[in-house]
Amino acid sequence: MANLVLKDVSKIYDGDVKAVNNMNLDIKDKEFIVFVGPSGCGKSTTLRMIAGLESISGGELFIDDKLVNTLPSKNRDISMVFQNYALYPHMTVRDNMGFALKMKKEPKAQIKQKVDAAAEILELGKYLDRKPGALSGGQRQRVALGRAMVRNPKVFLLDEPLSNLDAKLRVTMRTELVKLHRKLETTFIYVTHDQTEAMTMGDRIAVMRDGVLEQFDTPRNLYKNPNNLFVGQFIGSPQMNIFRAKLIREGGVHLYMGDRKMLLPSSVSDRLDFKGSEKDIYLGVRPEHFNFYDVNNQQDFPLEIKTSNVEQVGSDTYVYFNSVNAEKDIVARLSPTEEVFVDDVIEVSFNLENIYLFDFDTEETMLREEGL
Ligand code: ADP
Repeated sequence: MANLVLKDVSKIYDGDVKAVNNMNLDIKDKEFIVFVGPSGCGKSTTLRMIAGLESISGGELFIDDKLVNTLPSKNRDISMVFQNYALYPHMTVRDNMGFALKMKKEPKAQIKQKVDAAAEILELGKYLDRKPGALSGGQRQRVALGRAMVRNPKVFLLDEPLSNLDAKLRVTMRTELVKLHRKLETTFIYVTHDQTEAMTMGDRIAVMRDGVLEQFDTPRNLYKNPNNLFVGQFIGSPQMNIFRAKLIREGGVHLYMGDRKMLLPSSVSDRLDFKGSEKDIYLGVRPEHFNFYDVNNQQDFPLEIKTSNVEQVGSDTYVYFNSVNAEKDIVARLSPTEEVFVDDVIEVSFNLENIYLFDFDTEETMLREEGL
């Protein structure tokens, strides 16, 4: 159990690589925090600085209100589980799990008790006498977790621990990790490049890009109120679609795209930070906010499209199309009730209540936070 504070923490590697740039985070006791972002954005480096495996180039790191910048890793009460969690192949599960305690010369009975307790939580009791070679991938992963658990750390650090597992097992292990976190009531910090993993596991998520923290927020708020275009596109699957469009003030503020102009609903214009008369913007529309066009839905912005690809997945139909106002293909998630084929010309629409507006120059959001 511990809270962690990072104040302007930076990491500069030899050769002037600024891997982490003035990172500020306030992590509460018992939170499940996820660091997410594209490969190379500084997630692992941040985690390794917290663990004490990497020196801190600038700023301050506090664990339980104590400055620990120079505290050796072994005195930080932290356990780390890596992607490549090498278990000792010649040792049983029990010996693998108890190894660190044996090295610390803890009494045998105490080691047994701690290993048994961890094995019970992880449901490994039946396998304690087996060698790792006789376990499934998921069981081996649980042994690696058990090895960290027996040390009873204040903070658990997990660096992409599920990336070597197959897709199905990853989903199962996600749920198991969330349950484990609840049982242990310990602070977890989890690194992944997979936004779905982040969204399904984190109490709060730190979204990083190029060593910079872009947003630190709950999954719900990241989805609803992304700070900028990058976060908007990073969170959500399939990705948010981006159009080039304009805002034009004529009486109220209108969204102008293609040859169509529509007044923004007050739920959007009330949150809009825009003073001028005209502005280029990036318009964000999530795939799930498209519908088949219905003329009665007055808040819907219609688009006539020609489908370039159609995927029927049962629960939904994903329709892909090009737009002159977008660089990339647009994808709309539609209800499967109407059948659509490739090269069909259809009318779809998106609801103006659900749009995202980003400044064309700064890529920052132009909308103040929406209440949740
Ligand atoms: P992530 O975990 O998000 O994939 P990392 O924290 O591993 O990213 O790396 C962040 C940046 O720091 C990358 O540009 C990487 O190349 C660089 N980096 C990582 N480790 C070292 C190192 N030991 N020496 C120099 N540069 C490094």
